[in-house]
Amino acid sequence: MNIEKIREDFPILQRKINNKRLVYFDNAATSLKPRQILDAERCYYENSCANIHRGLHTLSEEASIGYEESHEKVAKFVNCDKESVIFTKNTTEALNLIAYSLKNSGILKRGDKVVVSALEHHSNIIPWQYLEKKIGIKLEFVELTDEFEIDLDDLEKKTRGARLVSISGASNTVATQTNLKEIEKIVHKNGALFCVDGAQLLPHKKIDFKKMNADFLAFSGHKMLAPTGIGCLLGKKELLEKMDPFMLGGDMIKKVGRHASEWNNLPYKFEAGTPNIAGSYGMRAAIEYLEKIGLDNIEKHGKKLSKICYEEMEKIDSVKVFGPKNEKHGGIIMFDTKLDCHDLAMLLNEDNICIRSGMHCAEPLVSSLNKNGLARTSFYIYNTEEEVLFFIKKLKEILSSI
Ligand code: PMP
Repeated sequence: MNIEKIREDFPILQRKINNKRLVYFDNAATSLKPRQILDAERCYYENSCANIHRGLHTLSEEASIGYEESHEKVAKFVNCDKESVIFTKNTTEALNLIAYSLKNSGILKRGDKVVVSALEHHSNIIPWQYLEKKIGIKLEFVELTDEFEIDLDDLEKKTRGARLVSISGASNTVATQTNLKEIEKIVHKNGALFCVDGAQLLPHKKIDFKKMNADFLAFSGHKMLAPTGIGCLLGKKELLEKMDPFMLGGDMIKKVGRHASEWNNLPYKFEAGTPNIAGSYGMRAAIEYLEKIGLDNIEKHGKKLSKICYEEMEKIDSVKVFGPKNEKHGGIIMFDTKLDCHDLAMLLNEDNICIRSGMHCAEPLVSSLNKNGLARTSFYIYNTEEEVLFFIKKLKEILSSI
């Protein structure tokens, strides 16, 4: 991996604020975008700007082909059928789509048990919590081990009799890459549907949807170089066929009468209204970019940087890192210092070091650690070892000055 060459593709990395270069360690929130992705979006707007599936003119045909190619690109990238790829706005919309659709179809009903884990992002808690209040499903949480991994014994117990289990492939806080292989076996043995929140997994790890054998997988483009506003829901075709749509309107129908309509084929049944066409071009370009570098290289790089960061932080007395101490640790470091995490983030910002502070949309997890906020650094393909060491140096300076 030639990091210097990669960095040249990211115009924002040329930006200086107060004459200081940018050290961007907030990648778990969103990644920076390379020129190739910006060009792909511009290409749609400059050359083929039209709505899809509706016009017979050249621009509409080109846009429709481009949009379809983006579905195909995602399908190849994750090894699934094109019909299984539904474009959404982001992971949140994908997870809401599953919850509402399962409810609307009667697949999820009063008394059914839904199981999530203690490390979930709010977007994999609130939709289920809402169904608990609205229709009386039972929501349960699988606990974590001391190493911040999913407790498989607890999973085994709690998934007995469950209708659906929804778990993150990788945590946006404690950085655990969960053991999806074993989790899938337990969940399916117990007869539940298995949904994976892949928001923090897809940017860092090669995924094979068929091998993973999940029933659903949700992810966001913007954390893997693509523009904001484009994400994906992947689902097993036979299950998606049985599900009612989440949103209703144009493009998701085959035939419409005054009082009844016939749903369109997959994936369009779930893509009502004008989609993010430009975003789909950006998503395709992002996948091409990631594939060129190689997901295995990307994963190794993230783990290498987080290992260096972790080891350096462990040498600082007043810093505590939360996360597994083993190979399950992804490219994120969540930590606590003697300083309030927001004060720390602001002081680091004086040197243009961008970190995140707060609850990280995982309040149940952060609260369970008896904290009301934590700091987080997260790395991606353009971050360097030198940046990590610069951050550590500044962190030490800040902590020794108080
Ligand atoms: N799940 C996880 C694990 C996440 O990290 C995030 C984003 N921080 C989400 C879901 C939600 O992603 P989005 O905001 O793109 O919908």
